[in-house]
Amino acid sequence: MNASRLALLASAVSGLALLTVADQALAQNPPPPDHPAVTVHGQTFTPRSILSRNMGTKEDQESQFPPHKIIGNIYYVGTKTLSSFLIVTPQGNILIDSTYERNVPVIQKSVEQLGFKFADTKILLGNHAHLDHMEGDAMVKQLTGAQVIHMAEDMPALKDIKPSGKEHPIDRVIHDGDKVTLGNVTLTAHLTAGHTRGCTSYTTTVADGGKSYNVLFGCSLRPGLTVAPNVAEEFTRSFKVVRTLPCDVQLGDHGAQYNMLEKYAKLKPGAPNPFIDPASCFAEADVEEAMFHAILDEQKAAPAR
Ligand SMILES: [Zn+2]
Repeated sequence: MNASRLALLASAVSGLALLTVADQALAQNPPPPDHPAVTVHGQTFTPRSILSRNMGTKEDQESQFPPHKIIGNIYYVGTKTLSSFLIVTPQGNILIDSTYERNVPVIQKSVEQLGFKFADTKILLGNHAHLDHMEGDAMVKQLTGAQVIHMAEDMPALKDIKPSGKEHPIDRVIHDGDKVTLGNVTLTAHLTAGHTRGCTSYTTTVADGGKSYNVLFGCSLRPGLTVAPNVAEEFTRSFKVVRTLPCDVQLGDHGAQYNMLEKYAKLKPGAPNPFIDPASCFAEADVEEAMFHAILDEQKAAPAR
């Protein structure tokens, strides 16, 4: 092997060492396979189409989506494909998902455009320990001093998320069923593991127009390309759990998981709130559960050696 090939190999190896598990899960090159295919509610999905639907282009991941009120005191402050939610209370605000660190200024801008102060962020929650949802946590902590709260089972993966070497902040570790309260808002944390060990879905109630609604901030239920037996157990439990959660308004860590674009387009003064849609609450779980079983079937037919 000549010197330049050696140098190439060395840089490839060091590049690999920098790749975290999360990066590998998100690596689009090569993209995930276009099989198995499942058809759910009239639409066909493959692992490739689901990832592409969730992530969009790099530009989509980084471009501001118009910040908007979803319902009551809950607002969208994320990018075109990566969700970030702001819950406003008289005692300060809760932010769910910082996304990539480079998006934190985008989120801050959205919060301010809605008329709120980013510095009023008192609690930062994360949906699951992948870079596209929680890489920006250290920066949000630096800018706001927010209390950072995470599910115990995601802690090992979170410790590996260290943009520019910054330690992942953590102020409180929670467990399945724990509650997070700020002002008049209480969120209940539900462990819905599988996509990550500590994938957390949050539920809360919100008042809007004199009525009370259940809001579900769902965690991704997307299986990886292969599913290990312990992860299969987690998913099996999570698909059951998620369907027991009270839900009038379903949200997700990617807008595509709750048809954000379609619903946002229907948001008009005087029109019914398109985000109130109990019938669609578990449509995403249906898609991912079908995909989960299809992947398990493929694995059984051609076990990995
Ligand atoms: Zn993820």
